[in-house]
Amino acid sequence: MQWETVIGLEIHTQLATRSKIFSAASTAYGAEANTQACAVDLGLPGVLPVLNAEVVTMAIKFGLAIDATVAPLSVFARKNYFYPDLPKGYQISQMELPIVEHGKLEISLEDGTKKVIGVTRAHLEEDAGKSLHEDFQGMTGIDLNRAGTPLLEIVSEPDMRSAKEAVAYMKKMHSLVRYLGISDGNMQEGSFRCDANVSVRPKGQKEFGTRAELKNINSFRFVERAINIEVERQIDILEAGGKVVQETRLYDANKDETRSMRSKEEAMDYRYFPDPDLLPVEITAEQIETVRQTLPELPEAKKTRFISDYQLSEYDADILTNSRELADYFEDVARQSGETKLSANWVIGELSAMLNKEGKDISVSPVSADMLAGMLIRIKDNTISGKIAKEVFEAMWQGEGDADTIIDNKGLRQISDTGAIEKVLDEIIAANPQQFDQLKGGKDKLMGFFVGQVMKAMGGKANPAQVNELMKKKLA
Ligand code: ADP
Ligand code: MG
Repeated sequence: MQWETVIGLEIHTQLATRSKIFSAASTAYGAEANTQACAVDLGLPGVLPVLNAEVVTMAIKFGLAIDATVAPLSVFARKNYFYPDLPKGYQISQMELPIVEHGKLEISLEDGTKKVIGVTRAHLEEDAGKSLHEDFQGMTGIDLNRAGTPLLEIVSEPDMRSAKEAVAYMKKMHSLVRYLGISDGNMQEGSFRCDANVSVRPKGQKEFGTRAELKNINSFRFVERAINIEVERQIDILEAGGKVVQETRLYDANKDETRSMRSKEEAMDYRYFPDPDLLPVEITAEQIETVRQTLPELPEAKKTRFISDYQLSEYDADILTNSRELADYFEDVARQSGETKLSANWVIGELSAMLNKEGKDISVSPVSADMLAGMLIRIKDNTISGKIAKEVFEAMWQGEGDADTIIDNKGLRQISDTGAIEKVLDEIIAANPQQFDQLKGGKDKLMGFFVGQVMKAMGGKANPAQVNELMKKKLA
């Protein structure tokens, strides 16, 4: 039988506010345990939550960016459950009336096709604390620094049909929240993670199959792996005549398997009800318009502009607009050097390769946009060849200074002295009389041989155009 996979994602993204969603405690990452949880985060009696206005602005930004409805009225609700890292005994979230609904996001797949994924809703909520099992033998430590950290939970429609589509969606969403500046998207620090809902059905069947929810996945690679493994597991069960049970499963990256955490029967009844401590959130049309004015250029619009303004291919524009920082870097290099295609090639090629290799972000690139532009100008004015430029780039990366300094220190200036080039050329002709005769006799392929020999003899520093020119004169 042919099976079809159905996936819906719930992404939790941490909003980049300085203080928590309902208190003034700091959200800074990495502080000593329990130094950033105040009376509100701890749920002590006699204190009241106060909504951080910034999270509302951020949610509006997000809603506008995915073409969604921003609710004129949304309501915070208490999600009740007991867990040691939740001192209040409930999490403040939004249930029936979320702040954002009915959005969409277009994804591009590897084969170039595009697909629109529906976003059911996005709601504001607070994060819980963290249980620490490692440093406490036979006991569990609780760190409440995370309690009250603002989250936006983004729930997709079950519109994805493969692990690849789910990854493309997650990446696109990741890029979007960072463009908007509403989240740092740091996946190691847990600022961007997802639950994947996965089911399979016989191809052609209308009804969805029973789903399993894979909890808390914090890398693109793991999402893909976890979904593929889960799909195989479900197909195996169904083909053996069994039934998939609705349950929550955990992906174990070490064992590369998913394990049951709890079934639907064990699922909690959260007894949601509107939080009496918080007023409903009212958003006016003017407020939405004000936020709209602050929206940055979004990835799709930027990509379209790059293609038309800089005559870039769709592929190049796609890579360059992947992150706002990379796009800004490229534009800076292109503007300063006046060479768009060359700038795109270097940013996508050499620069990205080095960043990847060293696991560095563009924001900490040892070669700044100024430096790269400076080097491209030297290629353009024939001070160095493209080949020597690689050597210069490498040296800039190692911190040896800017292009001009390196070219001078290493004596990499291209030789445009006709006399010097001709002298070397004559030597090479004298050493290869047979080849020279063949070339004169019409074996044009040998042109490359002679130019190559001259370049080699001159350490790559001869101006190739000039070498060609001189060679032609010799043949005339
Ligand atoms: P719950 O209330 O249990 O969280 P929701 O209806 O809110 O369930 O759905 C949660 C997520 O699961 C959504 O992203 C949705 O698209 C996805 N989903 C729902 N049904 C299925 C299914 N049969 N297969 C795959 N994903 C599904
Ligand atoms: Mg849900």
